[in-house]
Amino acid sequence: MYAKRLDNLPPYLFAQIDALKAQKRAEGIDLIDLGVGDPDLPTPKHIVDALCEAARDPSTHHYPDYLGMLAYRQAVASWYDQRFGVKLDPKKEVLALIGSKEGIAHIPEAFVNPGDYVLVSDPGYPVYKTSTLFAEGKSHPMPLLEENGFLPDYAAIPKDVLKNAKLMFIGYPNNPTGAAASIDFFEETVEFAKDNDIIVVHDNAYSEISFDGYKSPSFLQAKGAMDVGLETHSLSKTYNMTGWRIGMCVGNAGLIEAFGRVKTNIDSGVFDAVQRAAITALTGPQDCVAQACAVYQERRDALVTGLRSLGFDVTSPKASFYVWMKVPDSVEFVAKMINEAGIVITPGTGFGASGAGYVRFAMTRPVDRINEAVRRMKECGIRG
Ligand code: PLP
Repeated sequence: MYAKRLDNLPPYLFAQIDALKAQKRAEGIDLIDLGVGDPDLPTPKHIVDALCEAARDPSTHHYPDYLGMLAYRQAVASWYDQRFGVKLDPKKEVLALIGSKEGIAHIPEAFVNPGDYVLVSDPGYPVYKTSTLFAEGKSHPMPLLEENGFLPDYAAIPKDVLKNAKLMFIGYPNNPTGAAASIDFFEETVEFAKDNDIIVVHDNAYSEISFDGYKSPSFLQAKGAMDVGLETHSLSKTYNMTGWRIGMCVGNAGLIEAFGRVKTNIDSGVFDAVQRAAITALTGPQDCVAQACAVYQERRDALVTGLRSLGFDVTSPKASFYVWMKVPDSVEFVAKMINEAGIVITPGTGFGASGAGYVRFAMTRPVDRINEAVRRMKECGIRG
């Protein structure tokens, strides 16, 4: 009774992991959950206060503007200017999203014709492929290999794919590899996109989660990026607001206009009170972001040091909250971790074929739980 395309839809990776966790917890196991990338820290108080105040104002109780309140879009533009030096026209180059997942899920509907190729990072956020499927496009994986710094090799894409490629999804700081990209790489991407008439969608969900003084660039800082691309970002990871569902899509005015037409027809925007709180987040004090990064940095150091002490060869990420680790068999390793040590991590294969041989740890639990995870691994003889 359901549409044939659902046959091609893999079960949503994190929903599967949630089901497994529920089963283990029902068995009474004290799980250490380093699986899903959902920050455990609370949303900063000044943002919660702004929501409460806005929710009490009845003028926020009605249908929001489809494209986002102008004041929210202005706040996004001023944040982009301050953070990246990127100037945006809030009326034409900024759109509110119901979280960046919603944007990524619907962007292909605006640009992809049935049968067009969409180039997707592999391993990558699973929604790149799913949204392509729903738009009746064909996804072509761009392997992110360790020897290339987990950046795609555009020269390796076959000519017949390139001829029919319409869109590409990339994202740095990268989920799941934790890799970062430079403006030079983004400029190479712009050139490639222009040469092949491909729209670039850069998923910038983790731009604010970085360590050791590193600041991750926006794709839109690259020369010519505004001609070819869109960038999605959200308040989820930056301000611990995953449950609030608020994000943004910014970039080329023509692309924003087309995507806005899709959104106007399929959703009714973000609760105005949430948008007002998001304005407070973007324009208010930013020390909460630095504090969250300091917490993740401490966790990263505990995890990387612990895994190295067990003989694993891991790279310490300079951004994102993921540690991507090589193992002989990712599915087998994940099963051993949960069944023997009660630790939930994610198999690399859940992010695409090129994730085989890797697992992902999310640093979304406190240091004492990370140290406990390392202790349990040692006790169970899980070593590199
Ligand atoms: N992009 C990447 C790479 C992610 O990891 C996530 C969430 O984990 C998202 C986008 C979606 O985040 P949100 O919809 O909360 O903005």
